Amino acid sequence: MRIFSVIGNPIVHSKSPRMHNNAIALFNENAVYTRYLLQDGKNLKKILLSFDGANITIPFKEIACEIADFKDESVIKIGSANTLVVKNGLVYAYNTDYLGFLKAIEKFINAKSALILGAGGTAKALVYALENKNIELLVANRSSYRFKDFFNYECCLYENIPLHRQFDLVINTTSAGLNDENLPCSKFILENIFKKSSFAFDVIYGKETPFLKLAKENNLQVKDGTDMLLWQGVYAFEIFFNQHDQEKIYKAMYEALYMY
Ligand code: NDP
Repeated sequence: MRIFSVIGNPIVHSKSPRMHNNAIALFNENAVYTRYLLQDGKNLKKILLSFDGANITIPFKEIACEIADFKDESVIKIGSANTLVVKNGLVYAYNTDYLGFLKAIEKFINAKSALILGAGGTAKALVYALENKNIELLVANRSSYRFKDFFNYECCLYENIPLHRQFDLVINTTSAGLNDENLPCSKFILENIFKKSSFAFDVIYGKETPFLKLAKENNLQVKDGTDMLLWQGVYAFEIFFNQHDQEKIYKAMYEALYMY
């Protein structure tokens, strides 16, 4: 039997075991998918080698990239990995977050300009996803120390976002609203941006964040991160099991998310 896991800290909230185990059952794979609470990133490789593969979540995605023997092009460019496969003692790294995001925003992809709020690991994956889509990008964050990771892109602090500029798509990649009722930046800034925007996307899933609520009040089309979560899982499942019926995998994972 092959054993897979999601590895992170915290991990108890992770929906990945539920999603993957339902798909494993549907495809009759001889496998099980569990969760592992890792205290220290230094042990990631050792722990990983006891599994056949894993999804890596906060805060180990960068370390996941570092420990890999082989890296997919997206992993090299983004600098983080969320999907690791172990083959003959070697670690192969992939990033399915950016693929999940692209699938989730399919309907919004005719946007010509986008504002990305936040400059962490997820923002890096999203910038990579959007960079070949002919979309003018601005990355904004509350602190500037992360801008070194975006040296090819236009970046600014929230208070310096040009409010006269139009952003068709506004994306929240920050954790603001995850465990609190905070907006990523001031209401004044967001309301001024939303006046000229059409779509708002939040990577946070399973709740209506204050960011999405405000976007809705300003008549934007909105979407949360559930589909991104599901699709990053679909792409990871394809890699783990060499199964390529995406709609069937998606259906199994979707059911798993909502069956309890
Ligand atoms: P990082 O820690 O790498 O980055 C966090 C970012 O959020 C930074 O830009 C940080 O700003 C900002 N931030 C945190 N708290 C606040 C706040 N209260 N106000 C304003 N900005 C804030 O995290 P990740 O990029 O890895 O993850 C971000 C979110 O994305 C998480 O909520 C995670 O659950 C979600 N996610 C969802 C996925 C999905 O499939 N739907 C996939 C991956 C992630 P600063 O630099 O100033 O600290």
